[in-house]
Amino acid sequence: MNPPQLVDPFRRPISYLRVSVTDRCDFRCVYCMSEHMTFLPKRELLTLEELDRLCTAFVDLGVRKIRITGGEPLVRRGILDFMRHFARHLDSGRLDELTVTTNGSQLRRFATQLFDLGMRRVNVSLDTLDAVKFARVTRWGRLPQVLDGIDAALEAGLRVKINTVALKEFNEDELFTLVNWCHQRDMDITFIEVMPMGDIAEQDRIGQYWSLEDLRTRLSAIYSLTDLAERSGGPARYVRVDETGQKIGFITPLSHNFCESCNRVRLTCKGELFMCLGQEDSADLRKPLRSYPDSDEPLVAAIRGAIARKPKGHDFDYSRQTVAGTMTRHMSHTGG
Ligand code: SAM
Ligand code: SF4
Repeated sequence: MNPPQLVDPFRRPISYLRVSVTDRCDFRCVYCMSEHMTFLPKRELLTLEELDRLCTAFVDLGVRKIRITGGEPLVRRGILDFMRHFARHLDSGRLDELTVTTNGSQLRRFATQLFDLGMRRVNVSLDTLDAVKFARVTRWGRLPQVLDGIDAALEAGLRVKINTVALKEFNEDELFTLVNWCHQRDMDITFIEVMPMGDIAEQDRIGQYWSLEDLRTRLSAIYSLTDLAERSGGPARYVRVDETGQKIGFITPLSHNFCESCNRVRLTCKGELFMCLGQEDSADLRKPLRSYPDSDEPLVAAIRGAIARKPKGHDFDYSRQTVAGTMTRHMSHTGG
């Protein structure tokens, strides 16, 4: 008999796990990382076998969707083997979706393999279509490589959703270019408000916070937007562009509260479980995993104990003079 599902104190069923499989990345996006990062020593990271055991425990507890993220997940050595093996849960029907959020740099190499293992959708982060601006915002990235990766994903049959961080005075002028570019390729696009993550110097914060309310107002000056009831259980709200049928998402952790329907938790690459992106509390799952190699009972007890502490919501707030609720950890740590 299956153990009872994970339900938090606010009666929210937990069915979605986001897993950061590495803190490393081949880019250094200005809002995500500082230029000189210190990464975790290898022994701190969960091995791929440990990741498999841990993620399988979540599937046993009723998680239906797993998103692999990072850092850049596709730069972790062996990650394709991990996903190929983990896809057995898709085949058995116990998992509805295995997907990935990537910066796109490795998609030319991996897209077909991702499709072949059962993946059907990927999220690719892209903030600008201007090569010079791209180099500025990612510090180490090259736009042509990412665009080629996106082409490879589409050619492989994957659905691609573009995630774009809305950055004042950086990509404001590309709003319609980006939306049209995605539409031409039959890709949805989701805009994300920049969140105060990491100890990034204020002067490094390119562009800064651009409210999606303003972005949406600009869109609706040109297009008719219809609100969609569809929710992902996460921070995204969606509209349909009546003229084109394209779907546009808005992730607005700051201008709207989205926590009431939250169905997700986040696992870091060293086995910490964060019950909320915007709170410091976490549970160490690596300890029960490593201390009890032959029994999952202590691990399951730790997972249940953590879910019982899931907070009601986050405390990010840009409405005052300074940014409140800032998290000292980087987005690459919790996986975005
Ligand atoms: N490397 C992959 C990528 O870039 O898609 C996956 C990890 S990345 C941390 C996941 C997402 O978080 C990306 O879409 C990125 O733009 C977003 N992100 C990073 N830092 C952010 C911040 N401070 N505010 C809002 N979104 C952020
Ligand atoms: Fe790397 Fe993604 Fe962070 Fe950019 S947003 S530095 S690509 S982890």
